[in-house]
Amino acid sequence: MTETVECIVAGAGIVGLAIARALARAGREVVVVERNAWIGNETSSRNNEVIHAGFLYAPDSLRARLCRPGAERTWRYCESRGIPCRRIGKLMPAADEAELGILAGLVEGGRKVGAPELELLDAAGVARLEPGLRCAGALHSPFTGVVDTHALMLAYRGDAEDCGVMIAFSSAVTGGDVRDGIRLNVTGADGGETAVGCRVFVNAAGLGARRIALSLTGLPTQFVPTVHHALGRFLSWNGQPPFGRIVVPLGDRLANGGAFTLDTAGRGKFGGDLVWVDEIDYCVPADLAAKFAGAIRSYWPEVDESRLSPDYAGIRPRTWGPNNGNGDWTVSGSAHHGVPGLVNLLGIETPGITAALSLADHVLEQLGIEPVPEE
Ligand SMILES: Cc1cc2nc3c(=O)[nH]c(=O)nc-3n(C[C@H](O)[C@H](O)[C@H](O)COP(=O)(O)OP(=O)(O)OC[C@H]3O[C@@H](n4cnc5c(N)ncnc54)[C@H](O)[C@@H]3O)c2cc1C
Repeated sequence: MTETVECIVAGAGIVGLAIARALARAGREVVVVERNAWIGNETSSRNNEVIHAGFLYAPDSLRARLCRPGAERTWRYCESRGIPCRRIGKLMPAADEAELGILAGLVEGGRKVGAPELELLDAAGVARLEPGLRCAGALHSPFTGVVDTHALMLAYRGDAEDCGVMIAFSSAVTGGDVRDGIRLNVTGADGGETAVGCRVFVNAAGLGARRIALSLTGLPTQFVPTVHHALGRFLSWNGQPPFGRIVVPLGDRLANGGAFTLDTAGRGKFGGDLVWVDEIDYCVPADLAAKFAGAIRSYWPEVDESRLSPDYAGIRPRTWGPNNGNGDWTVSGSAHHGVPGLVNLLGIETPGITAALSLADHVLEQLGIEPVPEE
């Protein structure tokens, strides 16, 4: 006999945990199925840990609509729960007048997406904040900061479990049938397969989400976009951090590893860079320092590349490829594909950490479930 559960969420990354939490707070019975033995072992622990201010995404995109409200909720949540986080601010340095023009456009655009605090600083204004930073001026985002994503995920997990959520670890969703209700195949660590029926299935399996969507008999493939993989490698900075704020250059310098971030403990790192890949491989080669240092020198000429060491890597799942500009997340519910109770989340890259709480509410809305406001 097939077991039944009201709601199943595939994936215990930050997004799946936030969705499970939101469903359970709305009174639903929820089981999370996670292929690893712990929460957040994939992209959610392989990123910059930045809470973004929400001004970098295409206007009217889901990312633009959910980032800022998600960020505001995440700051409030972390500050009220004592989760390590620091609003250290971000500077985006301009190499020349042309880049100052681009940054002025971002400041203007920020007013339309609820980021009125952005300001454009001249070189002297930047020097007052960060004396070591060389540039023609910079965009300053004081709202931006960093969070301990592991502590944040533990808190979402704790809230979810307090509301009755169960997490089945070392268990993968390996197939299913959505033609007459939803029935999933769940494979355990021992290789044994169990069939489970549910009324709601949220596929929040990150890098594994496309494979799950394609394995659902009855879901036409036209509703499952291609997902590309953009690798981001990080190098740690060995020494006193050169800046007290996040520093993010534009264009190729960003793609070549030029972004500087501090974690909540004050350790500095550079990256991630951006390399399109076909395979999931988190290896960070030993010879990346020269490439990264070339990008960093654009705003910090004195950088000593011998202080850069291989750290970790993450992979951004993207529904857009190298030639398709600034794309969006795909959150596909029954209004799109016609299957009641099914929501697929595909290509949930940045700002997934920042927006997880708002993205969870968006998923509930797709399911016709009223989200419960935070206390
Ligand atoms: C280099 C880089 C930098 C980033 N920087 C930032 C940043 O600074 N700020 C920000 O907001 N966002 C950032 N992001 C984006 C952010 O990390 C992601 O949007 C977020 O972690 C996505 O969370 P998720 O839960 O969707 O995916 P994941 O964390 O990947 O979780 C998916 C889970 O699904 C599980 N799974 C997969 N397949 C199956 C299956 N078949 N059955 C069961 N379980 C399965 C996996 O094991 C995993 O635990 C960055 C990403 C990268 C790669």
